[in-house]
Amino acid sequence: MREAIDNQPMLTKEPGNFNQESLRQLFDLGEFELPALLRYANQIRKKQVGDEVHLRAIIEFSNYCSCHCLYCGLRAGNHKISRYRLTNQEIYQSVQTAVRYGLKTIVLQSGEDRFYQPYDIAHVIEFIKKHFDVAITLSLGEHPHQSYQIWLNAGADRYLLKHETADPILYQKIRPGKNLQDRINCLMDLKDLGYQIGSGNMVGLPGQTLTSLIDDVLLMKKLNVEMAGIGPFLPHPDTPLGCYSAGSLSQTLKILAITRIVLPTIHLPATTAISTVNDDARRLALGSGANVIMPNFTPLTVRDQYSIYPQKIDIIEDPKQSMNNLKKLLKEMNRTISMSYGHAVKIKKYSLTKKEAYHGFGSQ
Ligand code: SAM
Ligand code: SF4
Repeated sequence: MREAIDNQPMLTKEPGNFNQESLRQLFDLGEFELPALLRYANQIRKKQVGDEVHLRAIIEFSNYCSCHCLYCGLRAGNHKISRYRLTNQEIYQSVQTAVRYGLKTIVLQSGEDRFYQPYDIAHVIEFIKKHFDVAITLSLGEHPHQSYQIWLNAGADRYLLKHETADPILYQKIRPGKNLQDRINCLMDLKDLGYQIGSGNMVGLPGQTLTSLIDDVLLMKKLNVEMAGIGPFLPHPDTPLGCYSAGSLSQTLKILAITRIVLPTIHLPATTAISTVNDDARRLALGSGANVIMPNFTPLTVRDQYSIYPQKIDIIEDPKQSMNNLKKLLKEMNRTISMSYGHAVKIKKYSLTKKEAYHGFGSQ
C-alpha cells in the first residue's frame, strides 16, 4: 500500500496543481485501490469541512419544462407524466415543514417552466426570506442575466446549475438546441453577480469518455464552484436514453472522492441519484467526501410526478420518516447535523501532513 502513496505524489500537492495527466492517475486506480482513495477523500473532508452534514430541503415546485434533455423524465416531449405546479401556499407550507425539522436551506427546484415571470419567483423568494430564517438555493436552469439579478435582489443566496458533462459535443447531443458554453456563461454570470454557485455532472452517460470525466472535475475547479452535485446517470424508460445502462456506483464514488481531493472545501452532496442506486449508497457517499444531504420536502401528493428518473429514493418517504432515517444514519457514522446555513467554506489549509496522507491512503 506504501506504493500507492509513492505513485500518487499529487495527493499531497496544492489543489491548483492538478491537470489532466495527474488526475488520470487517480482515475486509473483500480477496484482494489478504490477503498483507500475513498478513505483519503473522507479524511480531507473531515479536515476541511468537519463532521457536520448540511441538510438542504428540496422543494420541487413545478415539473413543467420547455427543454428536451434526452436523459430527463421531465423533458417537454414526455407526455406520460402528469404536470403540476405548486401554489405559493403549498410552497410556503413545505418550507414551514422543513423549518420545523430544523433545516436552514431551502432549495427551490423546477424544470425550465416558462409559465413564471421573473417577478413571480422573486415574490416567492421575498416571502420565504421575510417569514423564515433560511438560506435559499435556486435550481431553475438557464435564464437571462436580468432574472438572476432580480432573484438575487429578492434574497436568493445560491444557484445550482449542473454543467452535466464537460464534453461539448456530448452536451449538444444530450441537450438538443443547447450548448455547453451558454451553460458555463450562466454559471460565470451567477458567480459575478454574487451567488454561491453549484455545478456538477452525471456519471456514466452514453458516449462519455474518461477524458471528459476528468474535464468535469477540472471545469468545476476552474469555475471555482462552491458546491458540486455529482450523481450517476439513471435511465428513464420514457426518454430517448431509456435503453442505456445506468452509471456505476463505484465510478461515481471515485469521482466524488476525486472532486473532494481537488476542491477540498466545497459542499458535496450525497445526491438523491447516488442514494437511489442501493440502500447503502448514501452511507458510502458520506464516507467518500460528501458532507451534504438534500431531503425532499415536496408534498407527497405530487412527489412521484417529479420523475427525473425512476424509483427515486425519496418518492414515498414522508419528512418524519426521512429525517428519522437520516438522523439514525448520521449517528451511526459519528456525523452531526449542521445548525448553520451552510454557506460556502473558505479554504483553511490544504495539505495533509505526510503522516495523515499515509494513513488516509494506506491504512486497511
Ligand atoms: N431544470 C433544471 C436544470 O436542468 O438545471 C433543474 C432541474 S433538473 C431535473 C436537476 C438535475 O437532474 C439535472 O441537473 C440533471 O443532472 C439531473 N437529472 C435529470 N435526469 C437525470 C437522469 N436520468 N439521471 C440522473 N440525473 C438526472
Ligand atoms: Fe428540463 Fe432540467 Fe429535465 Fe433538462 S434536466 S428536461 S432542463 S428539468
